[in-house]
Amino acid sequence: MKKVLILGGGVGGTIVANVLARRASPNETNITLVDATGRHVYQPGFIYVALGDEKPENLVRDERGLLDKHVNLVIDEAILIDPDEKKVRLKSGRILDYDYLVVATGARLCPEELPGFEAAHHFYDLDASVRLSRVLDSFSGGRIVIGIGGMPYKCPPAPVEFACLLDYYFTRRGSRHKVEIHYLSPLPRVFPIESVAHLVQEIMDSGGIKYTQLFNVERIEPENNLVHSLEGESLKYDLLIVVPPHRGTKVVENSGLGDRGGWIPTDKYTLKAKGYDDIYVVGDATDIPISKAGATAHYEAKVVGENIAADIRGSGTKRLYDGKVQCFFDAGFKKGMRIAFDYEHPPKPARLSRRWYYMKMLIKKIYWSVILKGWI
Ligand SMILES: Cc1cc2nc3c(=O)[nH]c(=O)nc-3n(C[C@H](O)[C@H](O)[C@H](O)COP(=O)(O)OP(=O)(O)OC[C@H]3O[C@@H](n4cnc5c(N)ncnc54)[C@H](O)[C@@H]3O)c2cc1C
Repeated sequence: MKKVLILGGGVGGTIVANVLARRASPNETNITLVDATGRHVYQPGFIYVALGDEKPENLVRDERGLLDKHVNLVIDEAILIDPDEKKVRLKSGRILDYDYLVVATGARLCPEELPGFEAAHHFYDLDASVRLSRVLDSFSGGRIVIGIGGMPYKCPPAPVEFACLLDYYFTRRGSRHKVEIHYLSPLPRVFPIESVAHLVQEIMDSGGIKYTQLFNVERIEPENNLVHSLEGESLKYDLLIVVPPHRGTKVVENSGLGDRGGWIPTDKYTLKAKGYDDIYVVGDATDIPISKAGATAHYEAKVVGENIAADIRGSGTKRLYDGKVQCFFDAGFKKGMRIAFDYEHPPKPARLSRRWYYMKMLIKKIYWSVILKGWI
């Protein structure tokens, strides 16, 4: 009996578990997934909660109900990985051993790393999104500034998407003329992907969304409503929204498996932790220089689940992850873009269309029953 231990029940961990449970016989494979909360949260929905278009309770489900019946779920926090002994220590004191380990613990928000962050709002967790929705609801006018508190961060398009959706939000409320929306891009363009940046800039220009390029938020000065950049610029705000700095999780850092940011050095094709034949990494936890996105975690997880199953069965061809990512950008006014690429094929210039907006809405619906099961 081979023991597969999966740490993290987010997008990546859940798909690995379900794909593996379908492909490997329960007589030869014991699959255990450890998750710190036992609650699965659909993070792309945070934006819609902040904008009052989604109820928070619609984004959360019990992890148990999302997993194949052959997967054992342990609700506990992994605190230390010992790769030499092939053991993981949990917060409760329990120790689990493994033949294969999958680290899918995602990213950690570290607002404390940005001086003055307490004056900012954000939509990178559910509670903060609910708070922001109340603030936006009572916002009567002024300058809303949206910035990035550190790289890398999850879903690089999300903050610029939020700027576009704010344009739509205040237009619908009839108060757009009272609100200035100002996006601070950390890069020398408005969008992370060069071939798409031109179209996003057009959308922003036509919506009257202002932007400053190469503005990496370094600190906030709440007394004077000022946000300062690493590059030496400053901007006044009435309402400030900042993506908190991100790091890899504590269990990765404490186990000495992460780089300076806490991301695990990972082979971008095999998705094995570099230097370890029995440790796989999926999703935000890797150091692979592609988007930290659910779409990335999804495609990586399928490869890892299938490859571990093939290894245990001793048959079947192993796949390499080809860098596939496909996601949908909601530009507001019920229009969207599709962004798709892999290691060999950079994203093509995007087109704005209603079809891609509806595709994003469809994904929200099929996420629980199709995507997390690993069916597509
Ligand atoms: C506002 C916002 C919008 C987004 N929009 C999109 C989008 O449109 N498209 C897209 O593709 N992606 C989007 N994303 C990104 C996407 O949600 C993440 O990249 C994705 O969830 C990463 O999956 P993961 O499995 O690596 O980590 P996660 O889904 O974050 O899961 C990590 C899991 O690990 C658990 N965990 C952590 N530490 C431990 C531990 N020590 N022990 C046990 N369990 C632990 C956590 O409880 C969690 O369940 C968005 C994210 C945000 C915040």
